[in-house]
Amino acid sequence: MNASDSLATLPKADLHVHQEATRYLDLVLAEREGREPYDWSAWRDRLAAELPPGKERLQRIGSVQPVSLEHDNDDELFTARFAALMRDHAAAGACYVEIRCGGEVATRDGFMSMFREAEQQVQADYPRLHAEVLAIVIGAGQDPERADAFADDCIRASDEGLAGIDFLYAPYDIEADWTPMYRLAERFADAGLGITAHAGELSTANIAAAARMPGLTRIGHGIHAATDPELLQLLVDQGVTLECALTCNDYFGVLPDLEEHPLLRLVEAGVAVTLATDNPVQLSTTIEQEYSVAAGLGMSDAQLADFTRNAIRAAFTSDERKSAMLGELAAARGKRSAFTAVDRAYDARP
Ligand SMILES: [Zn+2]
Repeated sequence: MNASDSLATLPKADLHVHQEATRYLDLVLAEREGREPYDWSAWRDRLAAELPPGKERLQRIGSVQPVSLEHDNDDELFTARFAALMRDHAAAGACYVEIRCGGEVATRDGFMSMFREAEQQVQADYPRLHAEVLAIVIGAGQDPERADAFADDCIRASDEGLAGIDFLYAPYDIEADWTPMYRLAERFADAGLGITAHAGELSTANIAAAARMPGLTRIGHGIHAATDPELLQLLVDQGVTLECALTCNDYFGVLPDLEEHPLLRLVEAGVAVTLATDNPVQLSTTIEQEYSVAAGLGMSDAQLADFTRNAIRAAFTSDERKSAMLGELAAARGKRSAFTAVDRAYDARP
């Protein structure tokens, strides 16, 4: 079995994908209307020509809406766009995807039943695919009243199946004030919601504050921790899992070079790492491609399997779903004929 065969059969998991609302609406509508979808490759080329890599380019991440968001008011289209995202992941070998939604999407009336309907549609073709939803809380420090009201809605939605919360805030590349977010996080943790936060994508700022947040178990990106031994130790001590998005980091230029991506350093430091697509339509990537890029950075088959194992362990989903997915992962690993001594030793770790 060669490397690409074993990658194809490995169950994959993506803990960090944004809903890409109008981008998926565009894909669904393009197929129905028999037209080409928006050309993201040309958009990326334009942006790369206009803006230097790093913060400026990253700030343009949501700047294009290829179709009107009004299409989202149609429940059937709304369901179809979530199904399209899940289907893309399932077709790329995912057993699990967590979709994070901004705005009022995750607290919309009837949302979870439409989300589960989308999941069931995809499971008809890909039975092992499971999906959950996170709500993004933005600007808790800027508008505390609004953030409180949104938190109330999220806590209510947790009864219907909302799985977790993702914090986005400003400033992002220098230290933010985490006091208002900690206050909300305590409420979310009490309600049983999983908690993650974007941090450490552009610099080491906010990684320590995020790692110490009540109830937080994961960080989106966090890659710049690799430059600071104390931060690495903090992530290990706090048991924080990092959601690493290699193509996203490369395109937005948050590191000098993909070849210098600290993925291996994070893994070797003992940090639990997972792979993620972040914005797969805009970046033309898939979760399979992310695993393939990681393999290109020198990760072994056993380490690639660990990304899935770490993701399942850190997933904001039921123990029942986790057990089923860990069982599938073990079965897929067991079926491999070329299971090397290095792999065996790696898998035998506690
Ligand atoms: Zn993100």
